[in-house]
Amino acid sequence: MDSKEFREFGKAAIDFIADYMDTIRERDVLPSVSPGYLFDLLPKEIPEAPEKWQNILSDINTTIMPGLTHWQSPNMHAYYPTATSFPSIVGEMLSSGFGVIGFSWICSPACTELEVVVMDWLAKFLNLPSEFLHSSEGPGGGVIQGSASESVLVAVLAAREQAVKRIQTEHPDLSESEIRGRLMAYSGDQSNSCIEKACVLSAVPYRLLPAGDDLVLHGEALRQAVEEDKAKGLFPIICIATVGTTGTCAYDDVQGLGQVCKEENIWLHVDAAYAGAAFALPEYNELLRGLELVDSLNFNLHKFLLVNFDCCAMWLRDANQVSDSFNVDRIYLKHKYEGKSQVPDYRHWQISLGRRFRALKVWITFRSIGAEGLRAHVRKHIALAEQFEKFVLNDKRFEIVAKRALGLVCFRLRGDNSLTTSLLDRLMDRKKVYLIQAKYKDTHFLRFVVCGYNAEEKDVDFAWKEIKEQAELVLGSNKENKSIEPLKEHAVKNDVGQITEKIALLLSSDCEKLQ
Ligand SMILES: *Cc1c(COP(=O)(O)O)cnc(C)c1O
Repeated sequence: MDSKEFREFGKAAIDFIADYMDTIRERDVLPSVSPGYLFDLLPKEIPEAPEKWQNILSDINTTIMPGLTHWQSPNMHAYYPTATSFPSIVGEMLSSGFGVIGFSWICSPACTELEVVVMDWLAKFLNLPSEFLHSSEGPGGGVIQGSASESVLVAVLAAREQAVKRIQTEHPDLSESEIRGRLMAYSGDQSNSCIEKACVLSAVPYRLLPAGDDLVLHGEALRQAVEEDKAKGLFPIICIATVGTTGTCAYDDVQGLGQVCKEENIWLHVDAAYAGAAFALPEYNELLRGLELVDSLNFNLHKFLLVNFDCCAMWLRDANQVSDSFNVDRIYLKHKYEGKSQVPDYRHWQISLGRRFRALKVWITFRSIGAEGLRAHVRKHIALAEQFEKFVLNDKRFEIVAKRALGLVCFRLRGDNSLTTSLLDRLMDRKKVYLIQAKYKDTHFLRFVVCGYNAEEKDVDFAWKEIKEQAELVLGSNKENKSIEPLKEHAVKNDVGQITEKIALLLSSDCEKLQ
C-alpha cells in the first residue's frame, strides 16, 4: 500500500467510524452470533496475493461488525465504561503514524516530555497532593501504564524490593530468601481481581481483609491483620486500598489505612481505576481524604476521562523507589542525557521495555475538550445515574441495594433472587441493554452503569422502559410467588442514605468478583 492508497483507506476508515458512532443507537448492544461464528467465515490462511482495501473495509462491515459488543453504545450498562472520544481516536492514529517506541528520552524526547507534562496537568486537575507532580521539588511523578492491573503489579513489585532491602538491614540475621518467604500484602475483599493477580505474579502472599457492613475496608481491619502477622514473624509490605470498588463503587477508608501504613512502614497503593475521575470535582473532595499518606495511585483515563484504552495514569510519591527496583541497564540502552533531573527514563517505571506514545492522545483529548468539558462529562454520568436511581426508587417492585456512587446504581427486584436472575436473562436474550449481575452474601442484584459514548437522558429512559417491561413479564409469570411481596426490612425510602444502612445488613463481604 502506498501513501496515496493509505490516504484513501484512512479517510474511508474515518468516515466508517464516524458513521458507526452516529448510528450506534440503532444497533442492539449485544451481538447475535454464536461461538466460532468468525472461524467459519474467514479463510484458513493468509491470502497469497494482496487484496484491495475496499474489499477489506467491506468485510469489516459484514464479518467483524456482527461480532462486536457495542461498548460505545449508550445502551451499554455493564462493568464500568470504557472511554473513547473523537480527539482520542485521532491521537491514537497519530501515535501509530509516528510509530515511535519511547523507552528512553533520546528514543523520542517529545514522547517522554509530553508524558511528564500531561501527567502533571492531570495531577493538578484531580487535585492530587503536590508531591505527585514531576514539577514538585521531590522525587514524585506520574507515568502512563497500560492498565490498572499493570500499575498495581508495578506497585507490588516496587514495594517488595524496597521492603526486602530495608528488612535486610534491620535483620542481618535473616537470609534474603528467608525474608522473601515472610512477606505479606493486604487488600480488601471487595477489591478488583487484578490485585490478587499482581500478588500471585509477584510471588507475594496476600490477605483479602473483610470490608465492614458499609463495604469499606477500614484501618482497624488492617491493624488487626498486621498485628497477627507480625506475631507470626511475617513482614507486612503493602496495602492496596480501593477508591471505587468494582462491585458497588465503595470507597475504602484511605486515611485510616494510611495511618496504619505509616506507623508500620507499609507501602500504601490506591486503586482508583474508575472513581478517580471524581477527584476533579469539588463536590467530591472528601474522596481526597488521606491521599497525602499514599505512596502510589492509579486512575484509568480509559474508563472515565474520554481517552481510549489503554491509558492508566499512575503516580508515585517517590519514583526512585520504582526505578531503583527495576533498573537493569544494558550498554545499548545508555545515552548521554540519562539521569537528567526531571526527565525520566520511563522504561524503569514499567514492566516492558518498549512503550507507546500514549501521552499524545491524552494531550489532544484534554486540549480538545478542556478541563470544564472533562468535569462536565463526569457530572453528566453522575446525573444520568441519579435519573435511573429515581426511576428505581419510584417503583415499589424494585429496590436499591447499595448507595448509588458516581455512575453506578445497584438494584434488584424485591423478593426472591430468581426474579432478578430471570429479569437479567430476559434482558440478555433481547440484547437491547447490557447489564451484569453481582451478588452479596445471598442477595443477587444488577449493576446499572452509565457507559458508552455520549449517553443521554433519553438512553436512561430507554433502559428503564426496557427493564420495567421485562420485569412486568417476570412478575406476571410469578404471580403465585409470595416472595415478591416487599420485605419490611427492605422498605425503600426516598432517601438513599437510609436505605444503605438497612441493606448493608443483608450484604456480606463476598461480593462476586466482576472482573
Ligand atoms: C476496572 C478496574 C480494574 C481493572 O482495570 P484494568 O485497567 O483493565 O486493569 C482494577 N480496579 C478497579 C477498581 C477497576 O474498576
